[in-house]
Amino acid sequence: MAVGDSALSSPMGPPACEKDAKALRFIEEMTRNADVVQETVLAEILSRNAETEYLRRFKLNGGTDRAAFKSKIPMIKYEDLQPEIQRIANGDRSPILSAHPISEFLTSSGTSAGERKLMPTIKEELNRRQLLYSLLMPVMNLYVPGLDKGKGLYFLFIKSETKTPGGLLARPVLTSYYKSDHFKTRPYDPYNVYTSPNEAILCPNSFQSMYSQMLCGLLERKQVLRVGAVFASGLLRAIRFLQLNWAQLAHDIRTGTLNPKVTDPSLKNCMTRTLKPDPVLADFVDSECSKDNWEGIITRIWPNTKYLDVIVTGAMAQYIPTLDYYSGGLPQACTMYASSECYFGLNLNPMCKPAEVSYTIMPNMAYFEFLPHEPNSTGLTQNSPPELVDLADVEVGKEYELVITTYAGLYRYRVGDVLRVTGFHNSAPQFHFVRRKNVLLSIDSDKTDEAELQNAVCNASRVLSEFGMSVAEYTSYADTTTIPGHYVIYFELLMKDSAELPCESVLSRCCLAMEESLNSVYRQGRVSDNSIGPLEIRVVKNGTFEEFMDYAISRGASINQYKVPRCVSFTPIMELLDSRVVSSHFSPSLPHWTPERRC
Ligand code: AMP
Repeated sequence: MAVGDSALSSPMGPPACEKDAKALRFIEEMTRNADVVQETVLAEILSRNAETEYLRRFKLNGGTDRAAFKSKIPMIKYEDLQPEIQRIANGDRSPILSAHPISEFLTSSGTSAGERKLMPTIKEELNRRQLLYSLLMPVMNLYVPGLDKGKGLYFLFIKSETKTPGGLLARPVLTSYYKSDHFKTRPYDPYNVYTSPNEAILCPNSFQSMYSQMLCGLLERKQVLRVGAVFASGLLRAIRFLQLNWAQLAHDIRTGTLNPKVTDPSLKNCMTRTLKPDPVLADFVDSECSKDNWEGIITRIWPNTKYLDVIVTGAMAQYIPTLDYYSGGLPQACTMYASSECYFGLNLNPMCKPAEVSYTIMPNMAYFEFLPHEPNSTGLTQNSPPELVDLADVEVGKEYELVITTYAGLYRYRVGDVLRVTGFHNSAPQFHFVRRKNVLLSIDSDKTDEAELQNAVCNASRVLSEFGMSVAEYTSYADTTTIPGHYVIYFELLMKDSAELPCESVLSRCCLAMEESLNSVYRQGRVSDNSIGPLEIRVVKNGTFEEFMDYAISRGASINQYKVPRCVSFTPIMELLDSRVVSSHFSPSLPHWTPERRC
């Protein structure tokens, strides 16, 4: 097939180069043969892992076909695998889940019992992730020409890693990827040049890393054609960082000297080589950043930016208006859909509006099944295995929960994401990300569910009980108008002698008690990543929640079945609650967090 023959094309024209054409042909081949590819993937996973303890336990007897697999292997959640994961973490190297050695654990932002889930992975998964990454720019180049004429300003970070008792590394999937040779020694690709040097991305100190990445972005501001981070919250954090540090950045640019806070030897060395005095640029940074109005700051500083490359689907949709504000409405491209367990797929129409984003799951990444999603159903009928639908058989318009079987040894594992089928590319379905199950509050990668919030409120109530008070009602809200965003909890209090309201110190203790009760991803966001601001309690007047109920009933809620929503986002409700606030209180200090695992 010649360049331009791909069925994946856009109004902008044919593939940008032969390498892109090859990638696009690969997408076509995989999506045209989705079902066959899936069958092959399953057979490959089952045959190579036939002798694992897990598959033997279910008496698959070497079977590699779908029928045997579906009738014998149960659908599971993380908690079902906990004993196996624990053994691997403790150093058992026998083939428990995978015939290939587990190379490390990837720490998911999903938690179990308050701690990050540990996802086993094997070396070759890096190739699979790399393959998916390699498809992103060829697709983007179909829609945005000329990306080889400049650079991408991407704010990318590594996070702390730990070792399990058995000596395996445990770290986030992106940390694993950025530290791999796949990333560090990637071949030069004119369509994928970053302003951030590897030394900055790989610097473990988040301030030094961000500072240097921002400095490089400013130094090359005219070359920048796209600005991005993994998630929208990360890009907004970078904007906030610029707001707080532009004067020092401008000083460094003016003098050609580096902020002494950047002490990491290899980063310092690299940045010192790059910096040259540039008073004109320093004047520009000073004049733009000292203005009160930061609307459109991204395009003012980086005037050639064609789009923002950030995920704004799912929980990140709450940041779309703020990104619009700072970027003057630049397109927001959501390019891929992935997790620690497995990278799933990509958006074949990345310049579409955020609300229209659909991800095409690549059938070569893992074996995918879909549990028809019925709210309030566990998906299990008594004694009969769940009816899971294959990738090629899902129906447009229906919602499903994603279930995966991976090369690394997860079998029929529920990811927890609910997806809706929007259409097909060839025979591969495309999915709108609907939501992650059981997530009430999220600011960054934190995910707080109803039970965790309830537990946190109980602990706050315990503090109040010392003063003859308790929490009568509560609800919550993810406030993203601040950067970083923060959790707001509305409390209606029950006081024994309806005398005085509790004092500031008691309620700020409640804020901290709540933060201490939230999961480790939340606390890491507060302590280490600075991606979540202090939790706020807003005390509302007595009777507010009754008004809240009246309002809900006036809009059609049933009186008998009415339950206080534990999270709110609907503007009229927020207005009602905020108009009844009698006092507001913030966490006075950081909760406890250490990277050590108790595994
Ligand atoms: P983690 O395991 O911490 O890497 O988190 C993976 C989860 O992040 C997925 O299961 C989704 O819930 C969410 N996620 C990843 N990519 C996207 C995306 N493009 N849009 C919406 N949510 C996403």
